[in-house]
Amino acid sequence: MSDSFVDLHSHSTASDGTLAPAEVARVAVRAGLAGWALTDHDTIGGVAEAGEESVRLGIDFLAGIEISAEYPHPGTMHILGYGVDPQNATLSDLTRQLIEGRDNRNPKIVKRLQELGVVISMEEVEKEAGGVVVGRPHIAAILQRKGYVSSIKEAFNKYLAPGGAAYFDKERLSPRRALEMIVESGGIPVLAHPVQLRCESDEKLEAVVRELMEMGLAGMEVMHSDHTSELVSKYTAMADRLGLLKSGGSDFHGGNKKDIELGYARGQRVPREFLDGLFERLRSGGVAKAVRE
Ligand code: AMP
Ligand code: ZN
Ligand code: FE
Ligand code: FE
Repeated sequence: MSDSFVDLHSHSTASDGTLAPAEVARVAVRAGLAGWALTDHDTIGGVAEAGEESVRLGIDFLAGIEISAEYPHPGTMHILGYGVDPQNATLSDLTRQLIEGRDNRNPKIVKRLQELGVVISMEEVEKEAGGVVVGRPHIAAILQRKGYVSSIKEAFNKYLAPGGAAYFDKERLSPRRALEMIVESGGIPVLAHPVQLRCESDEKLEAVVRELMEMGLAGMEVMHSDHTSELVSKYTAMADRLGLLKSGGSDFHGGNKKDIELGYARGQRVPREFLDGLFERLRSGGVAKAVRE
């Protein structure tokens, strides 16, 4: 049993978290962690700052990204990419495509809200986001601040989630494309929070995971704030059986998800062996392509 812990799933102001990347590094140190990964949605805009502060503080750091792939409703498929190379051309292509998908969606949401009588503009939303990744949590924050809803949750239920009055989906990459692009970017693709796929059976989940493995999936996030201890055991057994790397993290978003604390996946600590496994895989070939060039 490990006595040293990490958190391999977190968000900063570069996407929809409320703390700056360097601040997340400081919180990681205060949480007593030996290492952490920043996994902002659709961007690596925060990893340089996060990495520099981590070096200064003497805590291990792994650059990451979280990508939403196409998957049938009501499930959602998110793929984590660990160790992607910030200099890689495929990575710039990837993040550009993802941001374009958002840029097409956000104005539609804002226009529908305006039609519904909400006083809101794209300028306000961009200001709220403060970076390149502009998403629904930023719109939700404005709705709450202006008193249209009393919580972020209500903003999603009433307006922004599927079934809400101003819901629009964003364009997503196919799972195959998302996995390929992470690998081409020098990273390790890991299936995030498998519970959110909402598979109706373990057999179905295993079939989905095996299909992803044929496309390059190398790991599974077994510990996460949405995973009960029963699910953690189940996913751990599945990852071990299928020969997948294991990952785990809180999915920390700062004040945007107030019940989630950095360093804890639903009360459980994530062993540093998970981070070591990822570093080991990266050393033994994951980024070889990028390094050799
Ligand atoms: P977006 O990137 O614009 O698609 O928004 C995704 C973000 O919205 C993620 O951080 C989610 O955790 C958050 N989110 C999605 N659905 C809900 C919901 N029903 N309630 C609160 N937050 C949500
Ligand atoms: Zn998020
Ligand atoms: Fe996610
Ligand atoms: Fe996340």
